[in-house]
Amino acid sequence: MKKLSYTFSNKTTRFYFDAAFSSLEGIINKDNAIIVTDDNIFTAHKKKFDGWNAIVLNPGEEYKVQTTVDEVIDQLIGFEADRKTFLIGVGGGVVTDLTGYVAAVYMRGIPFGFVPTSVLAMVDAAIGGKNGIDVGVFKNIVGTIRQPEFLLYDFTFLKSLPQDEWINGFAEIIKHACIKDLRLFKLLESKKLKDFQKDIRALATLIQKNVEIKANVVQQDEFENGERRLLNFGHTLGHAIENIYELSHGQAIAIGMTAASRISEQLNGFTETDRVISLLDKYGLPTLAEFDKKKAMEVLKMDKKKVSQSMNYVLLDKIGKGKIKEIPLAKLEELINQL
Ligand code: ADP
Ligand code: ZN
Repeated sequence: MKKLSYTFSNKTTRFYFDAAFSSLEGIINKDNAIIVTDDNIFTAHKKKFDGWNAIVLNPGEEYKVQTTVDEVIDQLIGFEADRKTFLIGVGGGVVTDLTGYVAAVYMRGIPFGFVPTSVLAMVDAAIGGKNGIDVGVFKNIVGTIRQPEFLLYDFTFLKSLPQDEWINGFAEIIKHACIKDLRLFKLLESKKLKDFQKDIRALATLIQKNVEIKANVVQQDEFENGERRLLNFGHTLGHAIENIYELSHGQAIAIGMTAASRISEQLNGFTETDRVISLLDKYGLPTLAEFDKKKAMEVLKMDKKKVSQSMNYVLLDKIGKGKIKEIPLAKLEELINQL
């Protein structure tokens, strides 16, 4: 087990890599902890959960809503959870977002940690303290920023991860490469998804590299006033179309990254859209889609990155170097209509 820690503005989060789930018992007091997970993970890894208090949610983004928060809180009351009770979110991004949110509001805040079980949660969702829920088509519109005490990485969870979810996670890995790391981009170009699925060492190294990228960005700008905005590459348009068309997150942001690359050509002299498209395509992600541009603009206008009549849009200077540009909404509408 390899231990690392990152200090954010008011918390140091411990990262345990290559850890076994069973080592959790050495990290926290089992009797005073409650696991939150979902039914897919609970069923596929039943033995791991032996002897733990657990709240098992229905799987899926449609359950990342206030009703589920209320249900979890009811169960916490049933467990007589108090301010010393430790919540552990074991799951993908839905579970970790929801667990972090419940932990932030239950009794005005209780401690929590995560065991991310999807590639997406391992490299992205579980890192950085953002938590929350969706309201209608508006993703993550309610939530807080609060850092977990620890993240524990047990790669054996990935044995049961469905192929589509692997692809989703690699969309975020490609995002990190585009905005921050040309070397990582080249590594991904030289390999295939299967290479990482077959080789746990290569996968562990890849995941740790991505944790490092994300945690460094968050460390510099925890509350998203600058650098952290780069992590929204592909996400502005991506989020707008994700819920309208019920796309997976990876598919939606892949289309969003392609669009952002094209807009970067128009506004920023970026010349490597084809290379971004080839990489997305290689990892099974879509790059082209017909979508209702008017409807997308309507949702997009409610995006958290909007400031009065402009949007902070993430563009690429070149591969490995993202930058933020403020685009007036009218101009953005014109650019999106040209896609
Ligand atoms: P995210 O893509 O943000 O991680 P979810 O929490 O919705 O979002 O996880 C995606 C899907 O993958 C869910 O259906 C979840 O139950 C499932 N899942 C996550 N981790 C595993 C795993 N290790 N084994 C099997 N299914 C998993
Ligand atoms: Zn994302």
